[in-house]
Amino acid sequence: MLRRVGPHFIQTPGPSNVPGRVLEALARPTIDHRSQDFSRLALELQSGLRRVFRTEHPVIVYPSSGTGAWEAALVNCLSPGDRVLAFETGHFATLWRDLAERHGLVVDMVPGDWRHGVDPSVVEEVLTRDADHMIRAVTVVHNETSTGVTSPVEEVRAAMDRAGHPALLLVDTISSLGSMEFEHDAWRVDVAVGCSQKGLMLPPGLGFNALSPRAIEAAERSRLSRSYWDWRPILEANGDGFYPYTLPTNLLVALGVSLEMLEEEGLPRVFERHRRHAAATRAAVEAWELELWCAEPDGYSSALTAVRVPDGFDGARVTEVVLESSNIALGAGLGRLAGRVFRIGHLGYLNDAWLCGVIGGVAAGLRRAGIAVPRSGVDEALAAMQ
Ligand code: PLP
Repeated sequence: MLRRVGPHFIQTPGPSNVPGRVLEALARPTIDHRSQDFSRLALELQSGLRRVFRTEHPVIVYPSSGTGAWEAALVNCLSPGDRVLAFETGHFATLWRDLAERHGLVVDMVPGDWRHGVDPSVVEEVLTRDADHMIRAVTVVHNETSTGVTSPVEEVRAAMDRAGHPALLLVDTISSLGSMEFEHDAWRVDVAVGCSQKGLMLPPGLGFNALSPRAIEAAERSRLSRSYWDWRPILEANGDGFYPYTLPTNLLVALGVSLEMLEEEGLPRVFERHRRHAAATRAAVEAWELELWCAEPDGYSSALTAVRVPDGFDGARVTEVVLESSNIALGAGLGRLAGRVFRIGHLGYLNDAWLCGVIGGVAAGLRRAGIAVPRSGVDEALAAMQ
């Protein structure tokens, strides 16, 4: 029986489902990126992005994936040989470290078990020991998409303050932006890195750097080589709503629509919806008698849930069977977690009924993969959503 018919559920923790309104905007005729229409759009997007990042300061938009925006944050703020403090919270923290090292930065990576977020007391301890202030930046992945564990960014900033340390705070908000609270200015983040294909409900293709005045100053002194990623010409052109090169204009038109949708619902309600859906998903996992990968309730992610696959089973097989039997794309285990977990994305464009469909479909797939879950989890998810 052919089962991959009907809507495709893209429940990877990014890319997420793209609403029809956004798809319609993508299909509009392409506009001239040097026109007044474009400039008006770009200036409106600037204001909209500032409201989502919760900042009064500039947000740079790149035609890039999240990785490009990671690189941009580093090359604008730092110089060859600079020390960076990082935390091994999962696969993405590790990839950001590797990228930094390829640029000649010296990264002190605090080891971790991938089941816990950053411990602010360790931030304070390491920075207090660095009396000569050799560490120039602290990097934190707010929501580790590989593990479903969040890190307490506000508390990391407080720990940096207690240590009296001037390092810049660079935060990856790639899978938290638009799905969970993030306060760029109030938490005094220096660069927040984001991208389009997660909480913003867009296809991949846009990367973001939200800046602080200290980050903009750092870019004047930093010596890592950069051209395409250089904030300075972009900031100069952005004043009039332009860019130094051709942006993916259709994606920007679509971004305007996704920002409008977030504003219509209101960010607090968006975050509450994500919290409810995450709690419902965890209730289903409990009903399946499977284990959550995240080991600390304070770190539970609102954007995704990583589920441990029982010994003797392969997580990759589970994602394959769920796709074949229910047309649901789940996230597979990444890096060290390959085969050991599967990840259910519940971020972006989602409602209660859709999530119930996902939970029922995953339960059916688990059974087909030989994992005898005792209940479908749908009733438990519904109860958690009341
Ligand atoms: N950081 C996090 C937390 C991510 O989830 C991802 C991708 O999923 C990235 C960085 C890399 O982004 P991209 O694949 O868009 O380059």
